[in-house]
Amino acid sequence: MFKNIMKNNRRVILSFDVDGERAFSSFDKMEKDIFLDDGVPAITGFLKKNGLDATFFAVGKNIQDFPRTHELLKDFEIGNHTFSHPRYLTKKSYKEKEAEIKKNHEIIEKFFGVSPTMFRAPDYSIDGDILDILRDMDYIGDSSLIRVLLPFRYFTNYIKQRKLALQEMEIPMTSFVIPFNGTSVISLGMTYAKTIFNILLMFNRTIVLNFHPRDFVNIDIKDIGFMNRDKALDTSMEFLDYIKGKCEIQSFRQYYSNK
Ligand SMILES: [Zn+2]
Repeated sequence: MFKNIMKNNRRVILSFDVDGERAFSSFDKMEKDIFLDDGVPAITGFLKKNGLDATFFAVGKNIQDFPRTHELLKDFEIGNHTFSHPRYLTKKSYKEKEAEIKKNHEIIEKFFGVSPTMFRAPDYSIDGDILDILRDMDYIGDSSLIRVLLPFRYFTNYIKQRKLALQEMEIPMTSFVIPFNGTSVISLGMTYAKTIFNILLMFNRTIVLNFHPRDFVNIDIKDIGFMNRDKALDTSMEFLDYIKGKCEIQSFRQYYSNK
């Protein structure tokens, strides 16, 4: 409590999309996923050591294929990131969209014993159908407005959410004009990360930070569409330590319960 006052109530909502290698290919059944195997324990270790909650947007197929890894997430908030992490959910039929969301919802309930209330679309690809489905399922939030390196998609998603007048689904603003997430932190380095973070803090808005387990694995491969990530773990940890000293870190459920 005292810490909150000292930090001027500046809040970062920390979230992770637990999609691992499935973000890049849709393997039917997977035995190994280096990002999930190594990245998830690094993240949960940090959170537990610091007594923090965070929101993990889980993928149903990954829960099925990697139950032991997902056991580590049981104390944290779980959000819905679809069953199979399809590229561009918006290109699917209404029925397929509904199946992706509902099937994962049920798997999460069964595995974690709680009903998710937050959603994030793979590739941040949302539309009116998806928001309608979520509203019907009593979700309280969608967090697909993070732009990554795609400002255009941010603005189109933003307009869709406004048009639908989903007041209860509004999320706190994340970085508005500047790419700012785990990938940009790692690719562009700590000087960039700290500078942008401090600029965002000046706006006094809650910042939603989006990382992936792969951001916590030192790996020197360049064939998955990334720049050099051989210091990813160190960079991510250094950055999390930095924001921990400046802000209160929360999950979405903590954010909504304190709002
Ligand atoms: Zn994803």
